[in-house]
Amino acid sequence: MIKRRKTRQIKVADLRIGGGAPVSIQSMTKVDTSNVNVTISQIKELEDVGCEIVRVAVKTSEDADAIRKKEEVAQVAKAAKKAKIPIRIGANSGSVLRGTGEDMVEALVNLAMKHTKLFEDMGFHDIIISLKASDVVSTVEAYRRIAGICDYPLHLGVTAAGLHDSGIVKSAIGIGALLLDGIGDTIRVSLTSPDPVDEVIAGKRILGALGIRKFGPEIIACPTCGRCQVDLVKIVKELEKKLYPIPYTLYPKRPVTIAVMGCEVNGPGEAMDADIGIAFGKDSGMLFKKGKILKKVSASTAVKELLKCL
Ligand code: SF4
Repeated sequence: MIKRRKTRQIKVADLRIGGGAPVSIQSMTKVDTSNVNVTISQIKELEDVGCEIVRVAVKTSEDADAIRKKEEVAQVAKAAKKAKIPIRIGANSGSVLRGTGEDMVEALVNLAMKHTKLFEDMGFHDIIISLKASDVVSTVEAYRRIAGICDYPLHLGVTAAGLHDSGIVKSAIGIGALLLDGIGDTIRVSLTSPDPVDEVIAGKRILGALGIRKFGPEIIACPTCGRCQVDLVKIVKELEKKLYPIPYTLYPKRPVTIAVMGCEVNGPGEAMDADIGIAFGKDSGMLFKKGKILKKVSASTAVKELLKCL
């Protein structure tokens, strides 16, 4: 059991963040925001796969420049408070001033807390904080430090994590390490990918792997070895294709584990422990449900038979 860090709770529309709320998944659109139709269509795609917060970028630097002075920040805080809109304070390693003698982690934390204090001084506390260091270790350290000195909910992410595989590995390590510490209230897996849906699926898998949230069936598959006599990779890929991405609403309360095992030696144990499982022999497999043998099925119909058990 992971003991979650106690935080304030904020609300983004109807979604609660922090204060014991489920860790939410967010992403960003990757299209030109000024193209409203394309942006809305991408937001809908993200919503369909279970993205709970979608951020959009506002491109012009004039927008950012416009709120550099304290008076403008006060106006923003006032307007946000009136409209009950929370504000995310993000400190990024790229925007930290160099040459101050602080290490990067310290600089990030100090920068975030400095801006947080600006809002606190105006009586604004509907804040969520994100810290973006340039590497996984500094990111984790920065979040650990800030978690110890404030009670605002934290948005976790490893910035500039890279292309799909490398990005997922870095994010899983960084976000996963923090979540295991009980730190983190909403996550974004940043991937250099044209499709933000990939980020949502990766986020769901990180939360699912830690048992923090279940979004749908979890596939447990063996790595295969010389004992395997079926094309297990093809079978698992077919099953995965059928199961993901699952619209969030389809299985919200039905966490199911599906074990797909390559042989009759080590396979049956895992297959019986899962909610649904199959242990293959030569060209066929034994289907299990809740630890009991259901029937023998051919390898070619295995996916169909497994899906029937859902
Ligand atoms: S379950 Fe069987 S086929 Fe799969 S890795 Fe283990 S021993 Fe090999």
